[in-house]
Amino acid sequence: MIDRTPREVLRPVSTREIADAVRTGRAARTEVVARGSGHSTEGQPLTGGVVLDLRGLASVHEVRDDRATVDAGATWRELLDATLPRGRTPPVLTDHLDLTIGGTLSAGGVGGASHVHGTQAANVLALDVVTPDGEIVSCSPSRRAELFDAVRAGMGRHGIIARATLRLIPAPGRVFSRKIAYSSPAELIEAQRRVRADHVSGQVKASGYTLKAVTYEGTAYEAARLPDGLTPGEVECEPEVEELSYLEFADRMRPDVEELVAIGEWDRPHPWATVLLPAARAAAFIEETMRATTPADLGLSGVVLVKRFSPGWVPMLRAPSDAVLFGLLRTASPGCRSAAEMTAANRELHERARALGGVPYPPATTRVPGFPVQAR
Ligand SMILES: Cc1cc2nc3c(=O)[nH]c(=O)nc-3n(C[C@H](O)[C@H](O)[C@H](O)COP(=O)(O)OP(=O)(O)OC[C@H]3O[C@@H](n4cnc5c(N)ncnc54)[C@H](O)[C@@H]3O)c2cc1C
Repeated sequence: MIDRTPREVLRPVSTREIADAVRTGRAARTEVVARGSGHSTEGQPLTGGVVLDLRGLASVHEVRDDRATVDAGATWRELLDATLPRGRTPPVLTDHLDLTIGGTLSAGGVGGASHVHGTQAANVLALDVVTPDGEIVSCSPSRRAELFDAVRAGMGRHGIIARATLRLIPAPGRVFSRKIAYSSPAELIEAQRRVRADHVSGQVKASGYTLKAVTYEGTAYEAARLPDGLTPGEVECEPEVEELSYLEFADRMRPDVEELVAIGEWDRPHPWATVLLPAARAAAFIEETMRATTPADLGLSGVVLVKRFSPGWVPMLRAPSDAVLFGLLRTASPGCRSAAEMTAANRELHERARALGGVPYPPATTRVPGFPVQAR
C-alpha cells in the first residue's frame, strides 16, 4: 500500500549501536525510524531516511517469577518461550505472537486479557530508551516518568525502546473456551462487561455478534461451569467447551496464518482500520458501520473485532477509560474493493470515531505538543 525506500537499513545489536545511529542521523538531519516486525498497516516503520531493524536485538536477559527483562526486538513468542518453562506469562498477549515487544509497546498492545490487566503498555515496569538526542536513559513510573509515559504508545516519536522489564503472572496449564452469539452489538458489549472470564474477545460474524469467553485453569473459574456473569440461556452457539493447553491457546492464530499464506491472502494489502470508542457510544457506531459494510468492503478473509477493555495508565494512547476496540481488518482480495477504496472508507471511519470521542489504533503519528523533540 505504501512504498518508501530507506537510504540505509541498519541492524543494531546493542543499545549503544541504536544510540550511535540516532546521533548520526540527528547530525545529518536524517529521519531515523525503528522497525520491529513491520506489521503496522499504514507504513509507520517506513522512511526515506534510516531504518533501524531491531529484530537482531532480541535476547531475553532475565526471567523471574514476577518479571522478565527482554530486548525490544524480541517477539512475544520468543518471550513466551522463555517464561513458560518457569510457569509464567505476560498478563496480556496480542492475538498474533510474532509482533515485537518494542512495536506493540509503542502502539499500546490490546489483547483478550486487557479487560483485566489493561494494555501491554500498562504492564511495563521499566524501559531502557534511546532519546531523540541519542542519550540512553532508564525510565519507569518513578524515574524519568515523563519519558516513560511519552514512549509507551508513542509510536517511536519520542525515543526508541531498547529494552523492557515486563510484569509476569502465573501461566495456566489449560484453558477452557466457549462462544456465545448475540443479536446486537449492544448485547455483546454489555455481556463483555458482565462476564467474569480471564480472556474475553468478540467478533462480528454472519451468525451474529459472537463473544468468546475463556477461563484459565487454576483461577476461580471451573471448566464445567459457565463463566460468572452469563446465564445458560446465553450459550447459543458451539455449546461445547473447547479445552486447550495455554500455549495452544496463545498461539491459536498460527493455523489461520498458515492458511492465509497458502491461499495468498496474507500477502495482499491489508487496509485495516481499528478505533477505540467510548463504550457508552460504541454500540450505535458499530451497528451503523456494520449496516453499511458489505463482504466486498472487508475482503475474502476480513475479520471484524469488538473488544471492551480498560487501557490502564497509558497517556499517549488517549483512549477512553472504558473503551471498545472496534477493528475492521480488511484485505483487498480479488473481486472486492480496492486497497484505495478501503483506505478511503477507513479515513471516513476514523473521522466518525473522532467525532464521538474515539481515537485511531495504533495511535496516529502526528506531533504532540509538550513532549520531547521527535527522532523522526
Ligand atoms: C496479524 C496482526 C495481528 C495483530 N494483533 C494485534 C493485537 O492482538 N493487539 C494489538 O494491540 N495490536 C495488534 N496488531 C497491531 C500491532 O500491534 C501494531 O501494528 C504494532 O505496532 C506492530 O508491531 P511491530 O513489531 O510489527 O512494529 P512495527 O510495525 O515494526 O512498528 C510499529 C511502530 O512502532 C515503532 N517502533 C517499533 N519498534 C520500536 C521500538 N523498539 N521503540 C520505539 N518505537 C518502535 C515503529 O517506528 C512504528 O511507528 C496486529 C497486527 C497484525 C499485522
